[in-house]
Amino acid sequence: VPLAEKALIARIRRMADLAPGRTPKHTRAAHAFLEKGIGDDCAVLRVLPRTELLVTTDFSLEGVHFRRDWHSPESVGHRCLARGLSDIAAMGGEALAAFLSLALPRDLSQVWVDRFARGLINLAEKNKVPLAGGDTAQSPDRILADIVVLGTVPQGKAILRSGAHPGDCIYVTGELGGSASAVVEMRETKRKLNARSYPRHFFPVPRINIGRVLREQKIASAMIDLSDGLSTDLAHICQESRVGAEISVTAIPRARVGSPAREVDLELALHGGEDYELLFTAPANQRVPAKIGGVPVTRIGAITRGHKISLKDAGGRAHELQPRGWEHFRR
Ligand SMILES: [Mg+2]
Repeated sequence: VPLAEKALIARIRRMADLAPGRTPKHTRAAHAFLEKGIGDDCAVLRVLPRTELLVTTDFSLEGVHFRRDWHSPESVGHRCLARGLSDIAAMGGEALAAFLSLALPRDLSQVWVDRFARGLINLAEKNKVPLAGGDTAQSPDRILADIVVLGTVPQGKAILRSGAHPGDCIYVTGELGGSASAVVEMRETKRKLNARSYPRHFFPVPRINIGRVLREQKIASAMIDLSDGLSTDLAHICQESRVGAEISVTAIPRARVGSPAREVDLELALHGGEDYELLFTAPANQRVPAKIGGVPVTRIGAITRGHKISLKDAGGRAHELQPRGWEHFRR
């Protein structure tokens, strides 16, 4: 049985304050914008002049976004926060603070909750984001976690989905399809996977630093994070920018997964979700580095007039690409 609300909050607060290598004093110094975190009616955050606040909220629902028999509690906690941080990255923002609301069934062990919190707090520490508050409640039977992440961006500098123009080139960071391939594998084999062979599924790295570089160096004209899958997320950019796109099959960087490592199917790279890489556009004459922070950046196509999205096959023929995004773990 998980601890009662007060005790649970006190425990998570202690874990957040005493994460490895940290003292409460450290926490205060690292989190310079946090005037008051857990322990009052509201968190109090300092906001610099001429900055804008980014707010994103994401559910992690048992049976939809994760399964207790597939994902370790640490992975569930990590992925829960990664979803929010990835949205901040997609705007070119810096993460300011995270807020967690948890609804837990009575039959859940406190050990599960502790391990979940550890996974979440480890990622928070890596990104210097304080867990600054939240809420807990009892859930009738499944685990529900809702993460809110606040971020900042200099006034008027957020990178929107709506900034792409015909002629812009289209880029992705990292490799695609790795996360979805883990789900396919677990569904087919009906057993747990070694998280180390599928890090992009179990412990995805939100691309906060890359997003910031793309904003600071004024490289990206439009951006989104790849949470639903390339075909769907590219359609979001095209819709908001009122443009079309043409991408090329041979250019799409496919993830290598498992051991021994093998390249994922094209279908997964095109439609598989939850890679949490960045998809962005840049003017054709804009220089774009081949790597940012050690992560490859690959040009996969170009923005076109109109509203169609097409996929050029290896022979150079174009086919219309339908958005067939990710349905999480629903059958
Ligand atoms: Mg997003």
